[in-house]
Amino acid sequence: MSTVIVGAGTFGASLAWWLARGGENVTLVDQFEPGDRRATSGGETRLIRCGHGSDADYTAMARRARTLWRELEAESGADLLRECGIAWFAHTEDGWEAACQQTMQAQDIPVERLDVPAAERLFPSLRGDDLAFVLLEPEAGVLRAQQGVRTLVRQALLHGARLVHSRAHPEGEAVVLAHGARLEADVVVWACGGWLTQLFGDLVSLTVTRQELLFLDGGREWRQPQVPGWVDYDRAMYGTADIDGLGVKAALDVEGPPLDPDAPLIDTPTTVGVVRDYMRERFPALARARLNEARACRYELSPDSHFIAARHPEHERVWIVGGGSGHGFKHGPAMAERIAAAIAGETPLPERFALGGRTPGRSLRTAGSGVVT
Ligand SMILES: Cc1cc2nc3c(=O)[nH]c(=O)nc-3n(C[C@H](O)[C@H](O)[C@H](O)COP(=O)(O)OP(=O)(O)OC[C@H]3O[C@@H](n4cnc5c(N)ncnc54)[C@H](O)[C@@H]3O)c2cc1C
Repeated sequence: MSTVIVGAGTFGASLAWWLARGGENVTLVDQFEPGDRRATSGGETRLIRCGHGSDADYTAMARRARTLWRELEAESGADLLRECGIAWFAHTEDGWEAACQQTMQAQDIPVERLDVPAAERLFPSLRGDDLAFVLLEPEAGVLRAQQGVRTLVRQALLHGARLVHSRAHPEGEAVVLAHGARLEADVVVWACGGWLTQLFGDLVSLTVTRQELLFLDGGREWRQPQVPGWVDYDRAMYGTADIDGLGVKAALDVEGPPLDPDAPLIDTPTTVGVVRDYMRERFPALARARLNEARACRYELSPDSHFIAARHPEHERVWIVGGGSGHGFKHGPAMAERIAAAIAGETPLPERFALGGRTPGRSLRTAGSGVVT
């Protein structure tokens, strides 16, 4: 089977790797170099966690993805996953975190409910007097995202895939490159992140927004490899320790203003005040930490934060994949496995990945978007 995949972000690059290592004939097309920061997968780090509230399917998919990222590491020698754990800050006994715990335990995924003093020992500094408990996923952690995408592409090429640098657009079932060449294949997959709004705006329900990441100079203690990543679901904040000298990462997860996928990413920060206030309260030792950098990036959000992965309604060979909605990175290889099974006619994709309109729903990221239920 021949496949052309347009888009070398986590979804497209994972699919290229998956199919090429299975012996398929794969051509991967991207307008940028893999890992370019204008693509959503181009950030240095992304959290990998199984907790998805009561959603058993995403929970299992994240766990499967972890196994596949480990396989990619073993195959390539790359060091992609830092298993530092993820700490969820729970404000109530029976909220999102309790649902995460129940769902993970039902799947035998390691998870621990810590009281606040025990959680405080995990971090160089933590104040949790507003928290009911902290849920620790010890086998979760942080993926080196940009490096992960580059590794996926490199391994796909080693397995025989071809990489083409070009902007492309669809013409029926064909992929037309910038200089006019046409690529045709048994299967064509458009995994174009936020650019799906331009290519298939009538078929996908997506909003592209400007988001921001802040990096604080926390000093040596925050560079220790065992310091967990963290998510405060209810307050829509998340972050990581200082990984690879970037600084302690902290971000507000509330959906930012709309931003065209081709518009320049201007780094002038807009969330410093709110993030700093949170960090001062939660991690008092970081109150005066120097701001190393503020980084703009983009979310491509579906209204219910479910991914998009479905066949084109008019073109049998064409598939559309995306809608990472601020939590898609980790799932890349596991989504690839499922998409490949759907293309092969083995296992259909869930109905909730379908094209078309969506009803807003509770966010699988944080309470920074979607409907609170
Ligand atoms: C700030 C931030 C924090 C995040 N945190 C997390 C996290 O902690 N954990 C997590 O799992 N996820 C996280 N995410 C979400 C995750 O990064 C995205 O869901 C995921 O990377 C989306 O991947 P993609 O392959 O769909 O899109 P992209 O990475 O954007 O890739 C699409 C590719 O398609 C190419 N392309 C588009 N159109 C064309 C065209 N016409 N011709 C040729 N090439 C084209 C682009 O150049 C690009 O390389 C975060 C996202 C952001 C922005």
